Amino acid sequence: MEAAANYIAGEWQASSQAAEDINPSNTGDVVGLFSRADAKAAERAIAAAKQAFPSWSRSGIQQRHDVLKKIGDEILGRKDELGRLLAREEGKTIGEAVGETVRAGQIFLFFAGEVLRIAGEKVASVRPGIDIEITREPLGVVGLITPWNFPIAIPAWKIAPALAYGNCVVFKPADLVPATAHALSQIIAGAGLPAGVFNLVMGRGSVVGETLLTHPDVAAISFTGSVATGIQIAAKCAAGMKKFQLEMGGKNPLVVVDDADLSVAVECAANGAFFSTGQRCTASSRLIVTDGIHDRFVQALTERMKKLVVDDALKPGTHIGPAVDESQFQQDLAYVDIGKKEGARLVAGGERLTRGTPGYYVAPTLFTEVRNDMRIAREEIFGPVAAVIRVRNYDEALAVANDTAFGLCAGICTTSLKHASHFKRNADAGMVMVNLPTAGVDYHVPFGGRKGSSYGPREQGRYAAEFYTTVKTSYTLP
Ligand code: NAD
Repeated sequence: MEAAANYIAGEWQASSQAAEDINPSNTGDVVGLFSRADAKAAERAIAAAKQAFPSWSRSGIQQRHDVLKKIGDEILGRKDELGRLLAREEGKTIGEAVGETVRAGQIFLFFAGEVLRIAGEKVASVRPGIDIEITREPLGVVGLITPWNFPIAIPAWKIAPALAYGNCVVFKPADLVPATAHALSQIIAGAGLPAGVFNLVMGRGSVVGETLLTHPDVAAISFTGSVATGIQIAAKCAAGMKKFQLEMGGKNPLVVVDDADLSVAVECAANGAFFSTGQRCTASSRLIVTDGIHDRFVQALTERMKKLVVDDALKPGTHIGPAVDESQFQQDLAYVDIGKKEGARLVAGGERLTRGTPGYYVAPTLFTEVRNDMRIAREEIFGPVAAVIRVRNYDEALAVANDTAFGLCAGICTTSLKHASHFKRNADAGMVMVNLPTAGVDYHVPFGGRKGSSYGPREQGRYAAEFYTTVKTSYTLP
């Protein structure tokens, strides 16, 4: 099998090394063989992007609009094929994967529109006779480093604004999902961009990622991934005076208070905690439930969990696919052991499931009698494992919800306007959901968190301009 190549300086360039991409629903199925670039290839991509920047940064807005629209249209036109590939390599269900692909297409179309709306300000000077203009300019070469859990949407929400505002891109996808990254890059490569404006460099974080972080010609890094990697990225970017943006983990609370509609709360919890195999930064991994509804909620949720079908991501009728790989699978099971040893009560799941194909299937898992100081309530598990924390009342629920190192998303299920309004104002998170799962967001509004979850300007929507542009203030005495 020939390895799929990287895209550098407008050419497809194979590397001497390659890695297999394995289907987590069926480990006997090899999705493909993909080049693994060395540092030299990453340097070539950075040089190509640097060379392309002067012309691309001054390109007309019609040209940029047309390219982004063409990419968005092609993604949407091929959503079923791309979604199938994504489900096969990452393990989310075919429905979730097609949904993610549609979102990626919509993001490109959104930023195609934004190109036409790039504006500045003209303001009066405090010194009579002088004109002041405030304009936005692109940054230069941006390195985009992405995780495996949203293999097309996250690259889209970084690549589209980067190109829209006139930057040149070196895209480094996660090792586990090169097939989707490659397919997306083929679409981008066919959309009529000048050579070097967009480059795909598949390879290790410690090689390709490291080159992006330390190279003086890279102006900015946008990263999504784990906290541990994010901390290293921040230190290296600061050392090189690069602009950077980090989107990292979560330990998102879903508060269920006595006045909640039980069926709404159960659906929010089942979706938020277990769909996409719990492999979402916005997953509801802490279910904080007040005394009066606690027992009814746990019983209804465990009943609901019995109906969740865990199986091959490509099979119709599957609700939950496998863990993404052996390492994530082992991490999920290790946290089940940790929870048991900490004294939490395992009321559902907790074991490996055997299906028709060899895959990393984990049963949706629910712990009760969890204290918020237990590791299963503090550390991101990134699997289909949820912890129920019993509290006396709303005030205690809010305090427990905010008692975390993370601050990505926080949800509440309530029928009371008083609780909903208070929670929206006081939840210490970048995103708040009322009677909705913590996971699942729109593509045209800001996405991001606080505390250990995020650093720097928000992604998505008009707020993306904060990261992908720099402001210039010009004074003129006519
Ligand atoms: P990861 O940190 O292991 O890897 C993310 C990316 O960083 C990959 O492309 C990887 O190759 C690269 N990388 C690793 N080491 C590097 C280094 N030393 N230098 C440069 N690059 C390096 O994360 P992951 O396991 O791919 O993704 C899961 C994590 O992503 C979870 O913590 C999840 O919460 C988080 N996530 C956050 C958001 C968000 O928007 N907040 C969205 C999705 C996922």
